Amino acid sequence: MITFSLLKSEILDLLFPPICAKCQKEGKFLCNLCEKSLIRVPPKCFGCGKLSPGTRRIPQGRTCLSCRDKTYIYAFISPFLYREEPVRELIHNLKYMRVYAISNVLAKLLYTYMQYFTILFPKNSVIIPMPLHSRRERTRGFNQSLLIAKSLADTLDIPICSGVLRRTINTKPQIEFRAAERRQNIIGAFSVTLPEKIKNKTVILLDDVKTTGSTLEEAARVLKDAGAKKIWAITIAH
Ligand SMILES: [Zn+2]
Ligand SMILES: [Zn+2]
Repeated sequence: MITFSLLKSEILDLLFPPICAKCQKEGKFLCNLCEKSLIRVPPKCFGCGKLSPGTRRIPQGRTCLSCRDKTYIYAFISPFLYREEPVRELIHNLKYMRVYAISNVLAKLLYTYMQYFTILFPKNSVIIPMPLHSRRERTRGFNQSLLIAKSLADTLDIPICSGVLRRTINTKPQIEFRAAERRQNIIGAFSVTLPEKIKNKTVILLDDVKTTGSTLEEAARVLKDAGAKKIWAITIAH
């Protein structure tokens, strides 16, 4: 069934060639001109959203001093605002229209952003895509974060550790809850299998979008408890 839907999508890609999500020009999912005109926001603190200078005064998304005891996340990278088109459209087309090739476009946008801000990960880093509960992954047919993570892992030459972080409880979608209730909804939803794979490692936790941050925070807590050294949270948009 999953193989069939993947095949179907590849056929659809052939039948409907890429169209720029912003100007509708044919050829690419995001044409060069529209890519250049994207509004990128500098890396900010995960907790309070303030710019947080790193080395050589370049903001690198480190959690600021006053937020450090409130979050398990060491640094946060998220180039775009979710309300801005066309990034929202690209994420939507990947997730709900199943245009898998868009994961490469999004990974490339992340990569160029990291290069611009000279963001480097330590040698012992691993990338972990935000897992979906197995039931939801079966319904959707794929995990969008895993696709983006695979593409980014290839570019950065950093190993990907999928299957280490698991979503053991199929929680209701966070969107159904008010901000204050989201943390409560997600607590206990994750577990770590094979903790030895992340012991003393920097984990790059990748999700497509950060809303309140509760899901990333809970995943980070579980990974830290299982022995991870530092957690970087990376999303395309927030
Ligand atoms: Zn365009
Ligand atoms: Zn802060």
